[in-house]
Amino acid sequence: MTKTRVVVLGAGFGGLELTTILSETLTHEVDIVLVDKSDAFVFGFSKLEVMFGRQPLTAVRHHYRQIVKPGVRVVQAAIQSIDPTAKRVTTDAGVFDADILVVALGADYDTRATPGLDEDGYEFYSVPGAERVREVLPAFEHGPVVIGVCGKSFKCPPAPSETALLLHDYLTERGRRDAVEISLVMPFGTPIPPSPDTSRAVLAAFAERGIAFVKDALVKALDPARKVAVLSDGRELPYALFLGIPVHRVPQVVVDSGLAAHPHDWVAVNRQTLETSIAGVYAVGDVNGVGTPKAGVFAEGAARVVAAAIIARVQGTAPPEGYKGQGACYLEFGHGQVGRVDVDFFSGPKPTGTFQSPSEALVAEKTQFGTSRRQRWFGSGAS
Ligand SMILES: Cc1cc2nc3c(=O)[nH]c(=O)nc-3n(C[C@H](O)[C@H](O)[C@H](O)COP(=O)(O)OP(=O)(O)OC[C@H]3O[C@@H](n4cnc5c(N)ncnc54)[C@H](O)[C@@H]3O)c2cc1C
Repeated sequence: MTKTRVVVLGAGFGGLELTTILSETLTHEVDIVLVDKSDAFVFGFSKLEVMFGRQPLTAVRHHYRQIVKPGVRVVQAAIQSIDPTAKRVTTDAGVFDADILVVALGADYDTRATPGLDEDGYEFYSVPGAERVREVLPAFEHGPVVIGVCGKSFKCPPAPSETALLLHDYLTERGRRDAVEISLVMPFGTPIPPSPDTSRAVLAAFAERGIAFVKDALVKALDPARKVAVLSDGRELPYALFLGIPVHRVPQVVVDSGLAAHPHDWVAVNRQTLETSIAGVYAVGDVNGVGTPKAGVFAEGAARVVAAAIIARVQGTAPPEGYKGQGACYLEFGHGQVGRVDVDFFSGPKPTGTFQSPSEALVAEKTQFGTSRRQRWFGSGAS
């Protein structure tokens, strides 16, 4: 029997989930090549752990070499070009031809789009960025900290709020909280727009801790000479330390493939199937423009839909249900507390969300969320 060749580009949330399902379900019917330039996966939320010195980097890197799954070949290589029509991918470790191609390359960062950020600020959304902040924080004594979102579309919308709350704890533990003002600049009117209850709880936590929420604004530039962050509405906020959520962009290799028209035009897909305009080419996770937040849980949900479509195609069964745009995010409230928001983007006329207040049970649930994925994706030997 000829096997279906599936090439999965990117071993993040989306690529790992898709590969795992296909290996489990179509063990003898597919050959899967999973390509990533990195040697290890790091959960987004682990970057906050690294940044605040709560875990060393070594503890949060999950090595791809641990993946041993039937029908799966993991290739560590940088993708140099993608030809979606020919379903051919060129990497620095060779060329791969596919029957089905899944682009799950995530979002890249464009720190240079925010003048002054590289010179005088710190992005903490990448692993090296989180490590740099971890080095800087212990010596930070006093003055205003601005946590600022620099572009409209960014990963994990709750993460900037979590950062503010965790920074409060960090400074409190070190006896420096009274010497530091914390402001958070966000492009929304509330911290979590689909869920008013969650937003109320987050705003209450900010008020209790004296964290200023600067709504409906982006940070457009830093002026290192004057130590001010310039906002999209012209306001200026002084900073001693600027922690930035950088402008996100489509990876250049995806733009070059023609699947995206320009760096800020996320790959267009069918909202139900996540297929691009080219049959048999899918885009899942942060790289697509389906309209759900850029978060791991959504990448995973999208991967499940694409996996079901591939299974149906290979087995000749009816196409699966469409993508629902639902996901649950755990929210660090500080003080060791974790809440949860369940959001639904596509069921109703507008996105909705339900909130679960912080509890011990949710702390355990969040831990289990990470552990279960590590075991599923990386095998029982996963550390
Ligand atoms: C601080 C922070 C906290 C977060 N917290 C949460 C959370 O609590 N819950 C949640 O659900 N999400 C969270 N996220 C968001 C989450 O990490 C991302 O949305 C998720 O990883 C997206 O999955 P993906 O599969 O689309 O892309 P990614 O997981 O980013 O994977 C893309 C992969 O493609 C690879 N790649 C890119 N370009 C190339 C190339 N040219 N060649 C080869 N490989 C390439 C990369 O190495 C990467 O491994 C957080 C993010 C951050 C930054």
